[in-house]
Amino acid sequence: MGPMRYEGTIYRPPSEADAWILQATLGCSHNACTYCAMYRDKAFRVRPLEELLEEVELARRALGSKVEKVFVADGDALVMDLDHWLPLLGALRAAFPRLRRVSCYATAMNLCAKPEAELRRLREAGLALVYVGPESGDPVVLRRIAKGAGVEEHVEASRRARAAGLDVSAIFLLGAGGVERSAEHARGSAALATAMNPRFLAALTLTVVPGTPLAKLEATGRFVLPAPEALLGELRTFVAEARPDDALFRTNHASNYLPLGGRLPRDRERLLAVLDAALQGQVTLRPEWARGL
Ligand code: SF4
Repeated sequence: MGPMRYEGTIYRPPSEADAWILQATLGCSHNACTYCAMYRDKAFRVRPLEELLEEVELARRALGSKVEKVFVADGDALVMDLDHWLPLLGALRAAFPRLRRVSCYATAMNLCAKPEAELRRLREAGLALVYVGPESGDPVVLRRIAKGAGVEEHVEASRRARAAGLDVSAIFLLGAGGVERSAEHARGSAALATAMNPRFLAALTLTVVPGTPLAKLEATGRFVLPAPEALLGELRTFVAEARPDDALFRTNHASNYLPLGGRLPRDRERLLAVLDAALQGQVTLRPEWARGL
């Protein structure tokens, strides 16, 4: 949804495809994950508040009554302080009478850096959902991919967000452990998904993007991406072992070989049956040419 004055490529989760995107920060304040090519071309900065309010005003005139969801980009917009967030959320509420939810990406560091009282104020002002991507629950993999936070920090980040009334969407990345840590990665990720206990849960599939540190490791043989069948096996372990209270689980991101959807744990058996059929070659996987980042 326009009007747009975006800089660089904009990334947003599939569930925000119908959201109006406000690019409040440029890039990612962490910008270190070894597999991530999203913002390599951007130096991180927070855009001036006046500029953002102007943009909201333009969107109000163009789309005011249509906007129900707003996604605040870029990489980890939660990093902004409340002096930025609160006027922004106020302006969004005033501009869009049908606004149902505002969401953004957040790192575990962003969430842990904000006192719980601040997270609650953000919730009260309209921020409803944070997308957090630990990518793996294996401590070795988390260190290798330079996620910047470990298992404990992700559990604590999710706990704080949920205590403040924010919904959490946790994202894991099949293949992130390479062939070497594939089993630990799958099991650890399921355990972390259980401990984070999010409302939404997603699994994406790693693509090694040229120019990233991970691509260099791959070129020198120090990282080997598991084959599609092994990635499905990781997904199977994940679905079989993750025990959130009640999470909407999706693998509908374009990077995945097999789009799945259901609730965990309620639909576990149905999801496992589809996965087993796929592992036995009875389900057509998304072809390489149709996969995306
Ligand atoms: S935190 Fe997210 S956007 Fe930032 S470098 Fe890591 S994967 Fe990329």
